Amino acid sequence: MKALYQELAGLLLKKKNCVALTGAGISAESGIPTFRSKGGLWEKFDPVVYASAEVFRKDPSKYWTIRGDFIRGYGEYKPNAAHYALVALEKMGILRHVITQNIDGLHKSAGSRSVTEIHGSLREIYCLKCGREYLAPHVPEGLPPCCECGGVLKPNTVLFGEQLPPEALEHAYHESATCKSMLVVGTSAVVQPAASLPYLAKRNGALVIEINPEKSFPAADYYIAQKAGPALSGIVAEIRGLN
Ligand code: NAD
Repeated sequence: MKALYQELAGLLLKKKNCVALTGAGISAESGIPTFRSKGGLWEKFDPVVYASAEVFRKDPSKYWTIRGDFIRGYGEYKPNAAHYALVALEKMGILRHVITQNIDGLHKSAGSRSVTEIHGSLREIYCLKCGREYLAPHVPEGLPPCCECGGVLKPNTVLFGEQLPPEALEHAYHESATCKSMLVVGTSAVVQPAASLPYLAKRNGALVIEINPEKSFPAADYYIAQKAGPALSGIVAEIRGLN
């Protein structure tokens, strides 16, 4: 593995202008289950149903059943070695942007500065009636929790069946089309439009490196069958050795 990390360290250092596309897998080592983890919450509650816009409109308590604990415990989950390795790459001037599908806010808490959360964040919650904003973990009791005005509270995340915020999406497309290398970390690459971003990067000449114990992006130039933490830390260590 060391030889591969060394080779990638050299390439990333040479190319710079790297963009990372991350998914639930990068937060797995922080203890947050991915959609596909065995025995996880999502085996009981299908996220496509419980986190859909249609179901939220009819019965928001379903959404709060699956997300309430995370929101009320916001801050309990901490960034892991993989989040910090991306911060290190940014500080070295190699990584210029992180595009994440995650809604856990961990890239920002780790210290990454240039981040697009294309599916939004569970940290920000707002009242559907008066627009008042709440910041997790500070949300009123209740299922679903309601604002003082009586309106239902909804986190600022993109539910299944909703459009992505156009500005975030445009930014993600731009970063993907203009980067020189892309790290695709911990995503099953099935949720669109995020899944199309590595293809966009590759079509525009970027080197694409996938890090995932289970390969999900067949067109990657390099594939590391490892967990995100050890793999990214390994690459960062090799870059430090070259400098
Ligand atoms: P996913 O659950 O579909 O896939 C997770 C991927 O991560 C899998 O390919 C798995 O093999 C890989 N993986 C598992 N452990 C890993 C590790 N330690 N290191 C590297 N890779 C690992 O997740 P997705 O592709 O992000 O897409 C599904 C949707 O799930 C996204 O829209 C996202 O918003 C949402 N989601 C987010 C969180 C979060 O914010 N932490 C958690 C669960 C789901």
